[in-house]
Amino acid sequence: MKNISKIASGIEPSATLAISELSKELKAKGVDVIGFGAGEPDFTTPDNIKQAGIKAIETDKSYYTATSGILPLREAICKYINDIFGVQYEPSNICVSSGAKHIIFISLQVLLDPGDEVILPAPYWVTYAEAIKMCGAVPVILDTTEETRFKITPEQLESAITDKTKCLILTNPSNPTGMLYNEDELKAIGNVIIKNDLYLIADEIYATLVYNGKFVSAAAISSELKERTIVINGVSKTYAMTGWRIGYAAANKQIISAMANYLSHSTGNASNVAQYAALEAYSCDQESVKKMNIEFAKRRQYFIDRVSKMDKVSCLEPDGAFYIFMNVSKTFGTELCGEKINSGSDFSQALLKHGLVATVPGIAFGNDNYVRWSYATSMENITEGLNRLEKFLNSEPTA
Ligand code: PMP
Ligand code: GLU
Repeated sequence: MKNISKIASGIEPSATLAISELSKELKAKGVDVIGFGAGEPDFTTPDNIKQAGIKAIETDKSYYTATSGILPLREAICKYINDIFGVQYEPSNICVSSGAKHIIFISLQVLLDPGDEVILPAPYWVTYAEAIKMCGAVPVILDTTEETRFKITPEQLESAITDKTKCLILTNPSNPTGMLYNEDELKAIGNVIIKNDLYLIADEIYATLVYNGKFVSAAAISSELKERTIVINGVSKTYAMTGWRIGYAAANKQIISAMANYLSHSTGNASNVAQYAALEAYSCDQESVKKMNIEFAKRRQYFIDRVSKMDKVSCLEPDGAFYIFMNVSKTFGTELCGEKINSGSDFSQALLKHGLVATVPGIAFGNDNYVRWSYATSMENITEGLNRLEKFLNSEPTA
């Protein structure tokens, strides 16, 4: 038989989803594992949003919709963006998709030709590099360290630009580090983008999950930057709606119409029913979001307080999202619970085996001195997970 495509055979599976599946599988087998893998809120979708979904089923919202999404939803998204982020768009600037992940994929398909380069600051969210490769394009990784709070500098960006560079992907706040670019930093990066005639994919899916500092959308920096920016967002994280699969892109009309063409030949419209639930999410008062954020803030504080008392691991205080990017490099060259630790991957595997705690090794995000913990799980799980971590660091197994 002939081989499957070169592109397909070069794609790695999503490590974040794999870890979360593994911990669910272990749990189903009766193993008492605690999952800190996928970044998925443990809260249930707020009731009013669920009811809107139920009503959509009962009122027969069961047909195809406009490919880029129902007009009321695109109108509600425009109003929401204006109210929350102070940026003005029209419905024709919005394309709704089956999750933010999909519209990131479509954005790259629309912007890139084979051989184009995309600048990707590391640590990066696991999906970007693979989605770039799916276009036959090349991710150009810019490494960052704790010294710059994992943020790229304009000089660093400038020095990575070649004739083939098409765009930069910036996640703000970041998954996996939780770091937030402030307005001045965005301006400086935006100037480099404009000067070099690049596009910016601004993944702002964690924009409402900020505990330290003020979130500013890249599209709010200037009209020039807005024109060449694709803003990505969606309902998954903000409204605890990961399984409903609704995301959107906001961009100039040419890009949006090219995206709609792509969608029209691939998934078609996002689920009609889920669009009505998202319409409720974006139109209702945001009280449930505030309540969830208060819980996330408590968990974050508890997590960083506990880690600050541990001497073999450390973390920077994240500004936003719901991840702790834990530096485990001090354990390298030692043995924990009888396992040699020389990388984040070793650490993560040994912690799962002996501590019954699932984390994502930093290699999935481009830096294997770290492991990522999602604190989108209950305080009870966080407390017990950190107890198990402490035991593991003292080479006392839980399993
Ligand atoms: N961007 C980032 C940075 C993420 O962490 C996620 C998590 N799933 C997504 C996009 C995609 O979200 P979804 O497809 O659930 O809308
Ligand atoms: N984005 C989340 C994470 O990074 C969910 C998993 C995924 O979609 O990859 O864990």
